[in-house]
Amino acid sequence: MSRITHLTILGSTGSIGASTLDVVARHPDRYHVLALTAHSRDETLFEQCIRFKPRYAVLLDEAAAARLAQKIAAANLEVQVLCGAEALEMVSSLPEVDAVMAAIVGAAGLRPTLAAARAGKKILLANKETLVMAGQIFMDVVRRHNATLLPIDSEHNAIFQALPHDYCSGNHSGDFSASGVRRILLTASGGPFRNTPLSELQRVTPEQACAHPNWVMGRKISVDSSTMMNKGLEVIEAHWLFNAPIDAIQVVVHPQSVIHSLVQYVDGSVLAQLGNPDMRTPIAHALAYPERIEAGVEPLDLLKVATLNFMAPDIARFPCLELAYQALRAGGTAPAVLNAANEVAVAAFLDKRISFPGIPRVIENVLAALPVKNVNALDDVLNADAAARAAACEAIHFLAPQSSFLAPR
Ligand code: NDP
Repeated sequence: MSRITHLTILGSTGSIGASTLDVVARHPDRYHVLALTAHSRDETLFEQCIRFKPRYAVLLDEAAAARLAQKIAAANLEVQVLCGAEALEMVSSLPEVDAVMAAIVGAAGLRPTLAAARAGKKILLANKETLVMAGQIFMDVVRRHNATLLPIDSEHNAIFQALPHDYCSGNHSGDFSASGVRRILLTASGGPFRNTPLSELQRVTPEQACAHPNWVMGRKISVDSSTMMNKGLEVIEAHWLFNAPIDAIQVVVHPQSVIHSLVQYVDGSVLAQLGNPDMRTPIAHALAYPERIEAGVEPLDLLKVATLNFMAPDIARFPCLELAYQALRAGGTAPAVLNAANEVAVAAFLDKRISFPGIPRVIENVLAALPVKNVNALDDVLNADAAARAAACEAIHFLAPQSSFLAPR
């Protein structure tokens, strides 16, 4: 077995962060946590510091960092507490770090993930927003600095496993036809509202939207799953990760979430990766790649599953999916605009300022209002992100009276 792997876990207090630590704790001889990071949940980060004894703990929020520093001192722990966005980039690129789990939610994950790529790290990529916002820039940096990219999103991890073993790194690197690949089939559960009457969507609550039938996840991605924007973001992610033509990425609704995605080859073969819906599987796969390690996941019992269903996505019910395809086709800054508008709209929905159907309305408005620009540098992406956030706030203000949340608060 290889030497110990030193890890930075960005977003360690979140759902992916906790699952990562669960896998890591099962293999103390293989993994050492060097840095843990969070936004403001200092109490959870403190508990993780006690258990994993990292050298660094980073919080974005200053007051939370001060509270954590006090607790660390009182507990006599040798953990250096840092604060702010620059510290996130620093712990992503430390020379001693071998691998970075990129599990911050949203656009905030872009800069530290880019920093890890520039430092040539092994990146376990959960933060799909990095690829949605700045796919070309990020992939160029990964190649230029010889970073290794392993997908954590269960669908992309499944595709990675079903593609030829050297697809992302070997001679055929990223060449669909040379590798005999015809199509990528991206599975989607359809979320909690797959069968909800359309007339009831106006009254959907954040709690209902966050109650995913198969996966336990953070609130933002849970809402994204309920609108199917998550699948739209994943289409964009697959396009960049696997150099896949847009028309070669097909979304298939598969309510059981047992097949995590499939690759269709020109000879008629279709390779799939199956497993119980538990993020510890792709996390363990990426952590140990190319080896395999125990992840604590219950083995799949196909006899219990018994039935697997597949259907086409309902575009009228899930306009966000089509908006994502449109943004990907438009190219340039459009996916960054889509992502930012979605983040603002989802936050407004979680805050009960707009209704569930208000989410795609806000995004559609913002995409229509902002012209698509070319992306030549990171600033182009960041400017588009800022403009889209401002436009989304305006759209929410404008739409709120007709789109307000109708259920009791
Ligand atoms: P969570 O909301 O559960 O966790 C987010 C993490 O990011 C927390 O540690 C949070 O800190 C931190 N964070 C939030 N905002 C900031 C910020 N502005 N700066 C720095 N850190 C911040 O998210 P998930 O774990 O569900 O998702 C993380 C990423 O993984 C997302 O991009 C998601 O799309 C992707 N993903 C998630 C899956 C899942 O099953 N959850 C599956 C596939 C992909 P704090 O706790 O202090 O707020």
